[in-house]
Amino acid sequence: MFFSYHCHSIWSDGRDTIGQMVAAARCADLAEVGLSDHFTLTPYDDTDAGQWSMPRNGRELEDCLRELRVVAAAAEIPVRIGVEADFFPETWSRVLEVLSGLDLDYVIGSVHYVDRFPIDSSAEPWRRLDRDAINAVHRQYYVRLRRMAESGGCDIVGHFDLPKKFGFLPDRAPREEMEAALDAIAASGLALELNTAGWDKPCAEAYPGPSLLEAAFERAIPVVLTADAHRCAEIARHYSRGAALLRDTGYTHMLAWRGRRSFPMPIPLSRGPGERRDDRRKKGEAS
Ligand SMILES: [Zn+2]
Ligand SMILES: [Zn+2]
Repeated sequence: MFFSYHCHSIWSDGRDTIGQMVAAARCADLAEVGLSDHFTLTPYDDTDAGQWSMPRNGRELEDCLRELRVVAAAAEIPVRIGVEADFFPETWSRVLEVLSGLDLDYVIGSVHYVDRFPIDSSAEPWRRLDRDAINAVHRQYYVRLRRMAESGGCDIVGHFDLPKKFGFLPDRAPREEMEAALDAIAASGLALELNTAGWDKPCAEAYPGPSLLEAAFERAIPVVLTADAHRCAEIARHYSRGAALLRDTGYTHMLAWRGRRSFPMPIPLSRGPGERRDDRRKKGEAS
């Protein structure tokens, strides 16, 4: 059975409500769904984080989780309580302090900024960088990921190779920094997500791409298939493709979470839920 743990609602930068996302997960025949809206404490006042993340978008994490628990109590599908937290070295200990009191099922740790530079907001900031600066952002991003893994406090590392998103690639992949980040993830016992959103972006690859996924497998880093869904239609996007990539890489299991404890579940051999529904529709049209 498939589940979708990396999902956003209107509490951060998603388009649909928690209730709508949960209903979409049930319609897609998912076994479980988890909401993970953004929680960001930046050390700066001048980033764009306040437009898309709690708490500076005027919404409070505690209120979001309260609504999530109300929806979960009435849902016909198990609903997990998660957060996607932003790693800044300057504020991470404060973030973990806030999260420690919240009775969560899992925390996704993500790097969306190198200092003030927004990695994935839009292509515009990347266009203003010269070659040296592009190389430096990629390198520093993986140094941050390594530091996040070393600090611990999260369960899942979000979109491992996010800086490739808009296609502004470095002259040479910062392999040393990437591998150091993977080593730290393995040493800390964190999981990696195979995030299918990348297939819908200019990079046209899941996060992480196949060779990095292989490097993760070689280190026995556990994985979880996620969609980084920002609307109902994305709740299980590209899941059959993602499951096939995981299996081709050698993975047989992925992790599920309850109360910050993980346990392995077999990766389904069947096609993803979205595809099954499409097939039914196609058959109906043809007949
Ligand atoms: Zn993210
Ligand atoms: Zn996300």
